Amino acid sequence: MANQMTDLEIAQQTKLKHIRDIAESLGLHEDEWEPYGHYKAKLSLNIMKRLATKPDGKVILVTSINPTPAGEGKTTVTVGLGQALQRLGKKAIIAMREPSLGPTMGIKGGATGGGYSQVLPMDEINLHFTGDFHAITTANNALAAFIDNHLHHGNKLRIDPRRIVWKRTVDLNDRALRRVVVGLGGPAQGVPREDGFDITVASEMMAVFCLATDLQDLKQRLARIVVAYDMDKQPVTVGDLGVEGALTLLLKDAFKPNLVQTVEHAPALVHGGPFANIAHGCNSVIATKMAQKLADYVVTEAGFGADLGAEKFLHIKSRLAHIRPEAVVIVATIRALKMHGGMAKEELHAENVAALQAGLANLQKHVETIQAFGLPFVIAINRFATDTDREIKALVDFCDQNGYSVSLTEVWEKGGEGGIDLAEKVLNAIANEANRFAPLYDVRESIPEKIRKIARMVYGAKDVEFSAKAQQQIKQFAGFGWDKLPICVAKTQYSLSDDPEKLGRPTNFTITVRELKPAIGAGFLVALTGDVMTMPGLPKQPAALHMDVDENGNAVGLF
Ligand code: ADP
Ligand code: MG
Repeated sequence: MANQMTDLEIAQQTKLKHIRDIAESLGLHEDEWEPYGHYKAKLSLNIMKRLATKPDGKVILVTSINPTPAGEGKTTVTVGLGQALQRLGKKAIIAMREPSLGPTMGIKGGATGGGYSQVLPMDEINLHFTGDFHAITTANNALAAFIDNHLHHGNKLRIDPRRIVWKRTVDLNDRALRRVVVGLGGPAQGVPREDGFDITVASEMMAVFCLATDLQDLKQRLARIVVAYDMDKQPVTVGDLGVEGALTLLLKDAFKPNLVQTVEHAPALVHGGPFANIAHGCNSVIATKMAQKLADYVVTEAGFGADLGAEKFLHIKSRLAHIRPEAVVIVATIRALKMHGGMAKEELHAENVAALQAGLANLQKHVETIQAFGLPFVIAINRFATDTDREIKALVDFCDQNGYSVSLTEVWEKGGEGGIDLAEKVLNAIANEANRFAPLYDVRESIPEKIRKIARMVYGAKDVEFSAKAQQQIKQFAGFGWDKLPICVAKTQYSLSDDPEKLGRPTNFTITVRELKPAIGAGFLVALTGDVMTMPGLPKQPAALHMDVDENGNAVGLF
């Protein structure tokens, strides 16, 4: 069953339809989509007005166990499930994030799915796409420039240059930019101060973009962003600087969702891309809402494992945008389960049923989490060529014994055809299983209470410890009236705990919150645990070393 072609070769061999055909298949009017070349389009926000009274499509959320560094195939399964639903004659659409150049050039590679379940054109989507991330980066850096300009021209707001929290961004892994000094060179060059860069996908600008429900809401969220504190330690906002209008203007075209197609010509909205560790990890609210108007079923992905992406989707995005998922797909791979069962990454190709069985504890925890949210679910085994029949049987037996719906999914190798069984099981779960969706905490609870609930109920932690700094911030935030916001925990994706080495299902552990960061524009508080990077570095052998362009202008080496 080994597939000889790379993702890029499959992508390049696929004969794409003109994006007009895809737009027409969704019933879009001629003036509701703007072509970006032949295979991409931006969709007008007027669609939301025209279809305002149309019932919303059903949302299917794809999540996974704690992943290995290579990813477990959530995007691949998301795309494959959308294709399978289409094959079953359902009106389905996919909603997912735009890739970041950090991981694309670094270790993980792109984020357009794989094999016969990809969104296309994969090279364009993985590189500059329709320029959204450049616009978001520009809006972010325009704000940084406005802040420094305010300091330079008299600093009427009395901003404390030592307490500016707004950083510059670039959508690359560039560790040399983590800490910089700006404004050097004398009075004409501005006010010298320590600054730093984050990767664009970890920025509040990205989170604001992705959580805004429309352009007016985007402007209001931008105005609420806290950029600094003044000499009395009071927050200074974008609204105080008076630049929310300019920032919204810079984002107005990027804010229109992007329409593309899959290998099998299923429609997909690819829009926005916050990281799931430091930010909330799912595509834009506007794209999901629009997708719900354009189809009966929306398949969408939340980043990393159910402890990060799904938790944040369900507690932050769902709450804010009133989205109730109808079912959850939990992606599991034999190789990751074996790693959770103690095998080293280099040995994963060898059969090891005992390690697999030991690793099932990780899957079990994520199942319990989704059950705690009251949602129907199906476990999707994303089949790899190295999986053996005995290993697959052990995983299926575990699901059968516990009464969990499970599907052996082969969407990477076979496209939608390989996901028919999964699609049928998801439709069955939606039609026949009770949906008692409810969040695990109430936003009115105190900051420590909310974090404790996430840590205990989602991670299985014993308790949470707060550093002296975090404790002081909790008091300060309550004083500013920021304590009624949902929490976005920044945590490693590899473990349920805050220690990336603790695989499987760790018990008896404590989560340490070392610092909080207000993201008032986005509308959540970030709780930082462990060493989560807001500006990753590149590895010794970055994926970029294999990238090239051939003499005909075709991409080489993207994956
Ligand atoms: P995630 O969304 O969970 O991070 P992706 O869907 O992006 O994972 O997949 C990560 C990588 O693994 C991609 O390069 C993809 O082509 C590859 N992949 C996914 N599923 C399979 C599979 N069943 N067999 C082989 N490779 C796969
Ligand atoms: Mg993904």
